[in-house]
Amino acid sequence: MLIDLHVHSSVSDGTDTPTRLVFNAHAAGLDAIALCDHDTFDGIQEATEAGKRIGVQVLGGVEMSAQLDNRQVHILGYGCQTWNAPLLAELAKVRVGRTDRIQATLDILGELGQPITYDEVRAAAGASPSIGRPHVADAMVVRGYVRDRQEAFDTFLSDTGPAYVPRYAPHVIEAIRLIRGANGLAVLAHPWGRGMGQYLTSEVITELAAHDLEGIEVDHPDHDPQDRELLTELGFRLGLIRTGSSDYHGLGKRHNPLGVNTTRASGYREILRRIAGRGGVVPA
Ligand code: AMP
Ligand code: ZN
Ligand code: FE
Ligand code: FE
Repeated sequence: MLIDLHVHSSVSDGTDTPTRLVFNAHAAGLDAIALCDHDTFDGIQEATEAGKRIGVQVLGGVEMSAQLDNRQVHILGYGCQTWNAPLLAELAKVRVGRTDRIQATLDILGELGQPITYDEVRAAAGASPSIGRPHVADAMVVRGYVRDRQEAFDTFLSDTGPAYVPRYAPHVIEAIRLIRGANGLAVLAHPWGRGMGQYLTSEVITELAAHDLEGIEVDHPDHDPQDRELLTELGFRLGLIRTGSSDYHGLGKRHNPLGVNTTRASGYREILRRIAGRGGVVPA
């Protein structure tokens, strides 16, 4: 059984619609995926329906923006009751922060000689309720300023780039609490990707595990073999479920093809067992 527990659709910053994503997952030989769009549940229903037609299990998820000492941390929330009011309110607050920050980013890009209008970013984002830097990058590509998203991040938009603007996100312990409060299961996404290992130390992850964190994403394209080995040990020691996933974004991240990293069936079953046991949402 091939299981990829972290993929994105065009409902956030992926490039496949939820239906196309499920189709592509089936073509890649996957049996199950978890749709984890950034800060929104909006794609889950379409993906679930497509999954039933095409024959791919779809676990509903979200990749929630959080922060630790004002550094971005991503928490995957699986099987949440998508109607849970406190969680929905917080996700809405995060999305307002996303929208608000875009104009500030564009102001800086203008000063750097890369003028773009908000409408161009909005057009790049399509109907996405969760606008982000990748959409700014797409608008830069359309203008011909950069070749692709990666060049836009490397030159302007990365967390240390000249056009980076911070945005609102809840504390990581609060994000985990909200996911658990919606009967979901929280997993720490790509903990040591993009230099985050400096901040998300073993000590910090140990503390998160004491605050209802239940899993850790070990096999992720941003982790090298040594990261994976150390995270496997740490996860084992803390009793965390270890997962693997592609973090697929369609054409938006060419190094993350569907199924490039996967989760063992035993880990997936344990995730579903816990979610079902607490009244969260599991695939039918
Ligand atoms: P945002 O949601 O606006 O904070 O942007 C986060 C998105 O941008 C996620 O999909 C990340 O994978 C992507 N991203 C963040 N940093 C980089 C980077 N240095 N290179 C490429 N993509 C990045
Ligand atoms: Zn993304
Ligand atoms: Fe992420
Ligand atoms: Fe992601």
